[in-house]
Amino acid sequence: MSINMLNIALFGPPGAGKGTQSKLLQEKYQLTYLSTGEILRKEIAEKTELGMAAKKIIDRGELVSDELIFEIVGKRISKCLRNKGMLFDGFPRTVVQAEGLEKLLSQKGTSLTCMLSLEVPQEELIKRMLERSKLEGRSDDTPDVINFRMQEYKNKTAPVACFYKSLGKYHTVDGFGTISEVFGRVTRLIESVYPVESSSGL
Ligand code: AMP
Repeated sequence: MSINMLNIALFGPPGAGKGTQSKLLQEKYQLTYLSTGEILRKEIAEKTELGMAAKKIIDRGELVSDELIFEIVGKRISKCLRNKGMLFDGFPRTVVQAEGLEKLLSQKGTSLTCMLSLEVPQEELIKRMLERSKLEGRSDDTPDVINFRMQEYKNKTAPVACFYKSLGKYHTVDGFGTISEVFGRVTRLIESVYPVESSSGL
């Protein structure tokens, strides 16, 4: 049996605006939000074993292992499969994670509707992340770590785009502009691939 859910993965380098757009999207389409970065930061704040293992890696700007990511997402995804849909932020970040997600969703009779990539020029990304570091005080928003995160993105995360392109599920959105301009572009794209009844005036 197939379940008709709106499952979206937001894609793009650090600073592309995934977190900001996610908040608006979950509200508009009533999606269950799953951010692996946010879950990891919570584990770190609670000083769990998993959090402590992840902290060293995150502070260097590297990606944590695929095994650790599936440890935190597997059960959460299974629990949400009766909801309207899911919004993945910062996941999948490697081809192994993308393959794992496809398998997990298809076992549950659903699939990823689309991967949306927010495209933003490099100088703007760095500017945004340095501004965010002042506001949020994230330990991985320093210039050196930002650089390393960009490298990890190019090496390990960019290939995820090819994976979804081959499935015809990859779409790009211009992420340069005001929050509401970008949100308008994102929602037009979503509704072109998945017709939804608009539930808010956004
Ligand atoms: P984010 O908040 O999405 O920018 O994630 C912050 C950091 O958490 C990243 O730089 C990675 O070290 C780690 N992280 C978050 N999500 C993932 C993922 N799906 N795979 C591997 N590492 C991740």
